[in-house]
Amino acid sequence: MIVLPPKILLLDDEPFQLKLLLRQLANLGQDAVETCTTGADALTRLEVNVGGEQLIFIDLNMPGMDGVEVIRRLADRHYSGTLVLVSGEDARILETAVRLARAHRLNVLGHLNKPIQPEVLRALLEHWVEQTPFAAASPKQYGAAEIGRALLAGELVNYYQPKVDMATGTLDGVETLVRWHHPDDGLVLPDRFIGVAEDHGLIDDLTRVVLTGALEQARRWRDAGLVRRVAVNVSMDNLTRLDFADFVLSQVVHSGIAAEDLMLEVTESRLMTNIVASLDILTRLRLKHIGLSIDDFGMGHSSLTQLRDIPFNELKIEGSFVHGVGQDQTKSVIVTACLDLARQFGMTAVAEGVEDRSDWDCLRQLGCNLVQGYFVARPMPGAELAGWLADWEVRRPELATDGRTPNTWQRRADHTR
Ligand code: C2E
Ligand code: CA
Repeated sequence: MIVLPPKILLLDDEPFQLKLLLRQLANLGQDAVETCTTGADALTRLEVNVGGEQLIFIDLNMPGMDGVEVIRRLADRHYSGTLVLVSGEDARILETAVRLARAHRLNVLGHLNKPIQPEVLRALLEHWVEQTPFAAASPKQYGAAEIGRALLAGELVNYYQPKVDMATGTLDGVETLVRWHHPDDGLVLPDRFIGVAEDHGLIDDLTRVVLTGALEQARRWRDAGLVRRVAVNVSMDNLTRLDFADFVLSQVVHSGIAAEDLMLEVTESRLMTNIVASLDILTRLRLKHIGLSIDDFGMGHSSLTQLRDIPFNELKIEGSFVHGVGQDQTKSVIVTACLDLARQFGMTAVAEGVEDRSDWDCLRQLGCNLVQGYFVARPMPGAELAGWLADWEVRRPELATDGRTPNTWQRRADHTR
């Protein structure tokens, strides 16, 4: 028994298609359906029928006002209902239109290829839940002064997420991910404060706190025989002051951690402003055998230019290309190309965002070196790593045995040389 939306509006210029969809919806028990054949008509009806309890099926290809224009107009009106996009075009065009609608902050239930299969329609409608408008859910913004205060008060804490070796299933290292233990708001994720810290000159202090804490933790884990490698995120804004390399190197020496056990994950969310300084810092760090990882590869400015210019030894494939890779041809092509690039440059390939068994199996099949993601573990406080590892050792044998010997795997990059 599926719960259906109270009202449905179908928009398609072809009366035959409307009839077909009407019948399919009636077969599912949905009778409260209106139809219209032009975008203008649909928008007029929506004006009368404001509210989130509505589902509108939009055909993309229509003469006059097409589906893309309807999407834009709905966004202008802050439409709070839910959309299903329909088209007989290539699936990739439909997926792009879905991304466009979501970028406009519209609620999209999914997309349907024509001719619409009844079981596909049913499966889609099973996911219908009344949406709340995005605007109401937009998170609180934090100011620079509050972040500065949190830094001084020691409210920023490191969480760690395991990176595991796909050939053996063993723990290879951890990535440090900062969180804010906010006195009123609880645990605040970095996307809510890193950008502000970058914009207001606080990112150096933040990175220093995170790095120092991560190295201290790594020393304790190494001494306990738990894990050696630790990764820390650095922003491009950290790479504008030449003393950053000296700071990192002095902290490594102070911690007693081997330089090759520290990996810096470089996220380039904006264009390099000071190319000379960045290259100077990164080259010196590599000369001292500190690992460099190109983070979120394929997104923003983390691109081929950076691969050409900077001696990275690890490539992290952005999670949005990874989750669902087994079911999505486009993702599979992108991931395969990234793995190939990593192999050719002699870099270790890491897939982020591995969320389920299917992602895991597919990446093993493709010969990815390391993975990270909720399927393996969520980011956790340092004190929880030993407990997680004990549980992982129980899961590991089944996940990392498929009869392949390690020498059939892509060779791991060795950044000690
Ligand atoms: P990132 O470096 O790409 O980190 C991966 C993000 O994906 C983390 O989000 C992690 O919690 C999340 N994640 C891990 N596994 C999965 C999964 O299976 N599925 C999904 N959907 N997500 C997963 P988080 O911790 O919120 O961090 C967001 C970003 O903030 C990081 O992205 C990184 O760019 C930045 N960041 C975190 N800590 C620091 C830091 O100390 N300094 C700087 N400059 N940036 C940091
Ligand atoms: Ca990262």
